Amino acid sequence: MEKVRVDSNALTIIHVDMDAFYASIEQRDNIHYRNKPVIVGGSPDGRGVVSTASYEARKFGIHSAMPARRAKELCPFAIFIPTNMKKYKSVSKQVHDIFRRYTKLIEPISIDEAFLDVGEGNAVEVGRAIKKDIYTELHLTASVGVSYNKFLAKLASDMEKPDGFTVITPKTADKLLPTLPVRKLWGVGEKTEKELNRLGIFTVRDLLNYDRDFLIERWGRRGYELLKFAHGIDDSVVDTKQEVKSMGEETTLSQDTQNIRELEPYLKSFSASLSNRLYSKRLKCKTVTIKTKYNDFKLITRSKTLNEPIDSYEELYSTGKYILYQRVPIDRPIRLIGMQVSNFVYPYEPIQMTFTDIIGDV
Ligand SMILES: [Mg+2]
Repeated sequence: MEKVRVDSNALTIIHVDMDAFYASIEQRDNIHYRNKPVIVGGSPDGRGVVSTASYEARKFGIHSAMPARRAKELCPFAIFIPTNMKKYKSVSKQVHDIFRRYTKLIEPISIDEAFLDVGEGNAVEVGRAIKKDIYTELHLTASVGVSYNKFLAKLASDMEKPDGFTVITPKTADKLLPTLPVRKLWGVGEKTEKELNRLGIFTVRDLLNYDRDFLIERWGRRGYELLKFAHGIDDSVVDTKQEVKSMGEETTLSQDTQNIRELEPYLKSFSASLSNRLYSKRLKCKTVTIKTKYNDFKLITRSKTLNEPIDSYEELYSTGKYILYQRVPIDRPIRLIGMQVSNFVYPYEPIQMTFTDIIGDV
């Protein structure tokens, strides 16, 4: 019989985040780079951006996604190194080999970050062992967070970076959470932060003291989710399935058509279903693709990549419709239409609808 975990507050989740991953690997592999500002990414003479800055470079205010040219202005003597993804991927694989010694339940978030569920094991011991293995075998440091859910484990790993090891228990969560800026809650990006600030909500405590009904009325399920995180509740599980790269829906029409309006209902239904699938995986997408197959079986795809990630039915439908009308040639009858979303952003605004009124119980 399957064992039932009775204590949902048991410390079972570990979040491992490698410190300045690309830059640390380069520093490890070249003695001349050690203790120096190292910037991995595009060339400072071109239009490239910083992928990873070593901690020495961060002291100059250099960070990921900054134009490399700007980084050079901030620190003219920094060492610029082109990205070597092949090398970083192979190190990432070595890190995962270490994870697998301790658990099978691994959810990779990116090349240098993962959630682990140790089940009945001791997450504090396992977390320490993993950190030690990474250091002694790969000569790299990781920041490790241990807690009773993913949200708190990730919060923990970020608290003492670099080379950190932090445990958040239910007791420490109760003390810690109210003191944090709302920005620390999953789902609060720059935009939401500003909206909350406008309501006078700056810390998690402010949020907890705010009129609950108002928040839920204003933000719907997002309001629920925000409040759940504010209480340290996150019921998402460590998802070991292969990282999804795209999701799609398609239909072969019952009759070929050259009437673009007849295709709209399909886009509506695809948008609704894709929006639900994105919600349930807690993903947002930046690219929408429309696929059409013609009566001569020729297949074409047309995409649009957005600046801001989306997940709602309305946004998906309007983007899909835009592509259909602006970019898809309707010069002969269409026999199949499909819609695909990709270029995911995670973790993002948490939105999974919950049917347990958890907020009402607290
Ligand atoms: Mg990292």
